[in-house]
Amino acid sequence: MEPLQRLTRRQLEALRVIAARSDGGRGIPLNAIAAGLGVRPPSALAHLGPLEELGLIRRFRGKSFATPKGRLCLSEYLRHHRVAESLFARAGLSARATHAAALEVDMALSHRTVQQICEAEGHPSVCPHGNPISPCSPAGEGHR
Ligand SMILES: [Zn+2]
Ligand SMILES: [Zn+2]
Repeated sequence: MEPLQRLTRRQLEALRVIAARSDGGRGIPLNAIAAGLGVRPPSALAHLGPLEELGLIRRFRGKSFATPKGRLCLSEYLRHHRVAESLFARAGLSARATHAAALEVDMALSHRTVQQICEAEGHPSVCPHGNPISPCSPAGEGHR
């Protein structure tokens, strides 16, 4: 299974908070992660072990850092979410409804399925909200 498929929504949110605040090599302390998630530190702490085991973050001297693998996982997540939104938009859902619908599936889809949907949708460059969709694959197939 791909890392994204193994995460809970809360773990993904924790990864997002850590990545946003650990840019430039500066780590983020536990209390700041907890504040970013709106939970108590022990609840935030429970998310860090699984993220570290998957190699998405590393921890050093009480601070957490997003790894390149963690940042890649977040960009893959956005791609899954926005491709799913595009699919639901073409199925006739309003732009607002596509967001909620995409949240129901975006973490469960495999990259392969997202790629197939993206191809079937003609490789949309933006989601229904105008946010950019990154190209399908680095291997040359996909967006032209
Ligand atoms: Zn594509
Ligand atoms: Zn969107």
